[in-house]
Amino acid sequence: MEEIKRVSFTKEMKKTHTILIPTMLPIHFKILGNVLENYGYKIKVLDNFGQGVIDQGLKNVHNDTCYPAQLVIGQMIDALEHCDLPLDKVALLITQTGGGCRASNYIHLLRKALDKCGYGNIPVISASFMKSEQSGGFSLPVTMLLQAVYGCLCGDLIMTLYNQCIPYEKQAGASQKAVDDSVAMAEKLFCKKLLRWKEVSALMKQIIERFNKVERRKEEKIRVGVVGEIYVKYSPLGNNNLEEFLLSEGCEVVCPGLFDFLLYCTHNVVFDNDLYGINGVKAAVMRKVNAFLRGRKSDMIRLIEQNSDFQPPCHFESTIESTKGYIGKGVKMGEGWLLTAEMVELIQHYKVNNIVCTQPFGCLPNHICGKGVMRVIKEKNPQANIVAVDYDSSASKVNQQNRIKLMLANARLMSAQQKAQDDREPPVEQPLEEQQSHQNQKELVTASAGFAASSTEQCQDGQYAY
Ligand code: SF4
Repeated sequence: MEEIKRVSFTKEMKKTHTILIPTMLPIHFKILGNVLENYGYKIKVLDNFGQGVIDQGLKNVHNDTCYPAQLVIGQMIDALEHCDLPLDKVALLITQTGGGCRASNYIHLLRKALDKCGYGNIPVISASFMKSEQSGGFSLPVTMLLQAVYGCLCGDLIMTLYNQCIPYEKQAGASQKAVDDSVAMAEKLFCKKLLRWKEVSALMKQIIERFNKVERRKEEKIRVGVVGEIYVKYSPLGNNNLEEFLLSEGCEVVCPGLFDFLLYCTHNVVFDNDLYGINGVKAAVMRKVNAFLRGRKSDMIRLIEQNSDFQPPCHFESTIESTKGYIGKGVKMGEGWLLTAEMVELIQHYKVNNIVCTQPFGCLPNHICGKGVMRVIKEKNPQANIVAVDYDSSASKVNQQNRIKLMLANARLMSAQQKAQDDREPPVEQPLEEQQSHQNQKELVTASAGFAASSTEQCQDGQYAY
């Protein structure tokens, strides 16, 4: 088989080339792009969406490969096809997890696709915390990594507060305005090369105060947790605008942050060492890194608690604790035990019983840690109302939305039953005609809820796969 040539990103290219980065989390990537620019790179975070991206993915990546790979590579090729920059002055950046899952090999698929499309001369940069592949002129100095870590935490904070404001905002657009202002504040601070935690925590306080100003209605909404494979969980391109859909259904979205994935990756190195006695030196470093990251997350939680009435995320210690009785921490392909822990934590800590578990079609690890543990989660938490949704280029959006709607019908019924139970007021005497009409409505709701409950159960057992 012919070897695909590797074109390196050289030191000189730092001045001449614009690096195109596929997007996943719009808020976080804006801040992270800013960090890279701060260190002298020219950056463009891609915002091309739509069928063109999916088509390019299907055309250039084998259809057996994970859906996120198809989208990420499809987005880059589509961007090159419509690029307004000279093609000899662009480079592409792709992340490598460095773990055992296929995400570590997306870079090879990208090179193959580029070669096939006649873009084989475009340099490809690997960005990895685990140093999977060296990229010559592109480096991640410790100060820059630290800024990226802080940027990620600020992104999580903005996302968490936004999710708690948007469904209740009194003035349309007020929450988005708070996001824009917060990102602008972050961009201003992240222009500094050396950033101290004191400055970042002051920024976080400002962000919380900014969101406190968003006027919110006091009403109860159905809260829905979103978990799953990292790309389809966060990327509107990967999950067919799931968040927008849930908002249009009158729900509040609860989505665990990206920072937990960093904590999960660093913790796994430590845990591997404890379990198998391997990578002693690396584990010793990661133990310190993990403790540092946990401390920063705890600081953020404290800031939210002290300065607002927003619900903060969990401490990572409690995330680890959530796995007990559900899954072993040696399960660490893909999102591994973190995915299970996030579902348990949503139910037990956030009191969110309704969960959409997003999974790329054909993603083995996440089907095991997501769909595979739903039975045990439901056995231990009977109130759990979980639906697994597969995402793929050939999956119909209507099918996905219908399955989520069934889960929501169940959620509404459970919420109504809970309210009725809490409500101790004696029933108001109604005229006979009204009583009859209420009885008819009640029968209708019971019938549809029964259908929703059984369909959700069947989805969990994989009977309703596409
Ligand atoms: S976690 Fe799933 S989608 Fe992601 S690389 Fe692994 S197999 Fe592919």
